[in-house]
Amino acid sequence: MNLVMLGAPGAGKGTQAKRLQDMRGLVQLSTGDMLRAAVAAGTKLGTQAGALMERGELVPDELVIGLISERMEEEPDGPGFILDGFPRTIGQAEALDELLKSRGEAVDRVLVIDVNDEALVGRITGRYTCATCGEGYHTLFKKPKVEGVCDRCGGTEFKRRKDDTEEVVRERLNAYHAQTKPLIGYYTAQGKVRTVDGMADIETVQKEIDLALDGA
Ligand code: AMP
Repeated sequence: MNLVMLGAPGAGKGTQAKRLQDMRGLVQLSTGDMLRAAVAAGTKLGTQAGALMERGELVPDELVIGLISERMEEEPDGPGFILDGFPRTIGQAEALDELLKSRGEAVDRVLVIDVNDEALVGRITGRYTCATCGEGYHTLFKKPKVEGVCDRCGGTEFKRRKDDTEEVVRERLNAYHAQTKPLIGYYTAQGKVRTVDGMADIETVQKEIDLALDGA
């Protein structure tokens, strides 16, 4: 199954995608994670993308399409992908359709995690991740069970994203509404969309997602 996760920044796409990867063996492809790795490694692509990311703007389609295409080639066969943060424009969605078609596959489901903008700002500015395995946490909503120790891998180093400040979050929300939200219509026309209420707590959202994926 190939699954696209759609939702504004901070809606919980990464958290839920990681869980689906652990539970269902699907391969999570996050263009945000790939771009941050390129920035950290100081590659040419990272330099091109980094300045745009710091401002909360989208990076050009061809860069992210190239990244996704390379990663997909590394997984010639498998149980399927969870696309987290990609596609973000209609052009990317069309490119994804082509990439999957060349593998004899398609987007099977699109999960929309629905949240309101104001709640997102608070969510994003409180979040942080394990520096070792990337598990996500939040200062208010999801603390590690043992303070300072990652539940998933036992790591003790944590980090915050540079673009998780209020000002940049507002820009990222603008980009979401202008460029990414139209994808809901694109996939609704194909009958692939299931929407879950992302304002509920993490466990409730997880249950809703399982129902949306396993139900009709
Ligand atoms: P994310 O981790 O998905 O919130 O992405 C962080 C930043 O990376 C975004 O604000 C964009 O600048 C960039 N980015 C990630 N994925 C994409 C994409 N599919 N298209 C364009 N820009 C992206």
